[in-house]
Amino acid sequence: MIKHALPVTREADFAAWYQSVITEADLAEESGVRGCMVIRPWGYGIWERIQRLLDDRIKATGHENCYFPLFIPLSYFEKEAEHVEGFAKEMAVVTHHRLVSDGKGGLTPDPEAKLEEPLVVRPTSETVIGAAFARWVQSWRDLPVLINQWANVVRWEMRTRMFLRTSEFLWQEGHTAHASADEAREETLKMLAVYRDFSEDCLGVHVIPGEKPENERFPGAVETWSIEAMMQDGKALQAGTSHFLGTNFASAQNIRFQNAEGQLELANTTSWGVSTRMIGGVIMVHGDDDGLRCPPKIAPWQIVIVPMLRDKPEDEAIVSYCKALQAKLATGSALGEPIRALLDLKPVKSTNKRWGWVKKGAPVVVEVGGRDVEGGNVSVIRRDDLYREDGKLNSAVMPRDAFLEEAGGLLEAIQEALHQQSIDRLKAQIEPVNDWSAIETKFADGVKNPGWADVAWSKPSGAALNGVVERLKALKLTIRNAPQGQSGHPGAPCIFTGAPAVERVLIGRSY
Ligand code: AMP
Repeated sequence: MIKHALPVTREADFAAWYQSVITEADLAEESGVRGCMVIRPWGYGIWERIQRLLDDRIKATGHENCYFPLFIPLSYFEKEAEHVEGFAKEMAVVTHHRLVSDGKGGLTPDPEAKLEEPLVVRPTSETVIGAAFARWVQSWRDLPVLINQWANVVRWEMRTRMFLRTSEFLWQEGHTAHASADEAREETLKMLAVYRDFSEDCLGVHVIPGEKPENERFPGAVETWSIEAMMQDGKALQAGTSHFLGTNFASAQNIRFQNAEGQLELANTTSWGVSTRMIGGVIMVHGDDDGLRCPPKIAPWQIVIVPMLRDKPEDEAIVSYCKALQAKLATGSALGEPIRALLDLKPVKSTNKRWGWVKKGAPVVVEVGGRDVEGGNVSVIRRDDLYREDGKLNSAVMPRDAFLEEAGGLLEAIQEALHQQSIDRLKAQIEPVNDWSAIETKFADGVKNPGWADVAWSKPSGAALNGVVERLKALKLTIRNAPQGQSGHPGAPCIFTGAPAVERVLIGRSY
């Protein structure tokens, strides 16, 4: 049996496994403040790659970056009733701007320094950005406004889990204003498509884009769309959202413009975001019992060279051989960018280095020992193909020049293989189900990895929808989304009511 690098396997305890990947791959750690994490360099390096690749796509679709303040006056939230109600339960509020001695050696907020109006630490920025839109937009000529900001936000989450749900998280939030509802809806779906493409192409995480049911809408939105990803344990992860806000925020914030005919109209707005949650998704989609398997496109280092040094005179030759290898690799390209190759010269035992990089998920680890130097070879470990059939480490000795030739193609093949595994899993774990009793069986207690069910429904709203939500809740299920691009009849009556159905939705457990 293979002795894996992590202390716990996915099979034994998926939640503990997830946590151990984060620790063993040096991605993040607890900070001492509940729900807030320290993102370590390897984790942050992945985030920086995500930022860069997604930012390019956001800009390529015509958006510009800008920055708004961390603090939002409380009154801004009060203007949009649904929005404030949705976020009230999880807002951090600043009430004072100074501390004074409490007379017992400690400090306390100075009653003299109480703010006239409390400031909310932004949970999302529709309100403050909408206020700016109201200033910026006067005429139809000022539209559309297409902006994005990279920022941190705070939502006081009660049940937190690193990356997936933290109280402070890093994200981008896009905000746009348009002259018509049609144009704003088109923007909403355009950014959903950008998220889908980014997730599949860069993260290798296959997703289902679709519309969220009414009860899962963003507070204040007319429509909320999401991309839903399948984790290895069959749970769903809402990996990104795009909201069509209609004129709800525009009327609350007075975003009006004069149309070409000279009449005043309300703008239609959108917002869309993805966060550091995506890193949690990458772990749960691509990780294995030896740690993370980082898709090459987002790996801070794609190829790590580990010299097998032994405190002997021949070490010098090994190091210079490795330096030449690194320099050559860096002139190559893969996946449309220069190859990112690191030579790891830390004074650490080389087998520990090897396993350190395996746990971090570096796509390729190249080991070079004295014998490799003599033969003009390298020993190559492909992270997505770590073991041979006999359970031994799959390290392939090959001529250095052949490796240099193939390195770019190898990274591309790894990116592709990870994505393909995610496609296969998503397909295998969604099952059409047409009656409620089959749902109860599929999601009965103790069933491991039930995946998702694809069901027809009549799209009830209001109280009728609440009834459905409660029934699902008893099985710890939620409606994930109604997949986009459905055409034709849903094929069965509503699974909840037996009434004629209007569309199909996915239901499952989720993070
Ligand atoms: P929202 O503004 O609520 O639509 O959130 C936008 C995106 O941010 C969601 O689709 C999630 O991917 C992510 N997100 C929401 N809440 C959290 C959280 N507590 N921690 C990490 N990511 C989050």
